[in-house]
Amino acid sequence: MIQDNLDKLYLRIEESAKRSGREKSDIQLIAVSKRFPTERLLEAHKCGQIYFGENYIQEVKEKRPNLPDSAKIHFIGHLQTNKAKNAAETCEMIETVDRVKLANALNRHLQNSGQTLKVLVQVNIGDDPKKAGVRPEATEALLQELVKCTNLKVCGLMTMPPIVSNPEHSRPHFQGLRQLLEDLQRKGYFHDVPRPDLSMGMSNDFEIAIEEGATIIRVGTAIFGERPPKLH
Ligand SMILES: *Cc1c(COP(=O)(O)O)cnc(C)c1O
Repeated sequence: MIQDNLDKLYLRIEESAKRSGREKSDIQLIAVSKRFPTERLLEAHKCGQIYFGENYIQEVKEKRPNLPDSAKIHFIGHLQTNKAKNAAETCEMIETVDRVKLANALNRHLQNSGQTLKVLVQVNIGDDPKKAGVRPEATEALLQELVKCTNLKVCGLMTMPPIVSNPEHSRPHFQGLRQLLEDLQRKGYFHDVPRPDLSMGMSNDFEIAIEEGATIIRVGTAIFGERPPKLH
């Protein structure tokens, strides 16, 4: 079933990539596996899926040791500062850096091990009180602080727009994130990243996100089916 879902997904990714003048290989698919057991991740990995998205460090700690090294985890949930060390040790990218305190905590642990870690800045592009992320107008100030975290490689921006019934309504938010990235690039940020990332789009709106420039999409339900209920 996962193979089938991935095949269908890649066809849709390819079509939307074409509409934005790109190749399907320009889009990185993160299989959002939160609340699914490790067996499902292993099944997807056998189908060629490399990147997985997880929201809870506890789950990452349980799953990581049972996954092959070639499987990579993007952390996409709210990260508490006291979990920074764990996240830095188990994930290949933290997509949800939204405050200086968290960035400093990550950087401190990385300095001890001499490693670097890829991160994205999570932006609350719709100013949605229910969503995490730095406010768009505060993003530049946060980036100025992130520059000082020399063990963090800031690769781009991530967002979760407000939940809407019609995915077309997410389009202005995706455009907003792209514009914010372009503004920041004009100001000199991300000059050391060949192609800064825009992580946006989920099962119901990834095609629109790709049309608007997403380089990373985070898709759960369309790959694994309906998620088991929350345990946390
Ligand atoms: C759960 C989640 C997703 C995936 O949602 P689906 O609708 O299942 O594709 C993507 N991004 C984040 C941050 C999530 O928490």
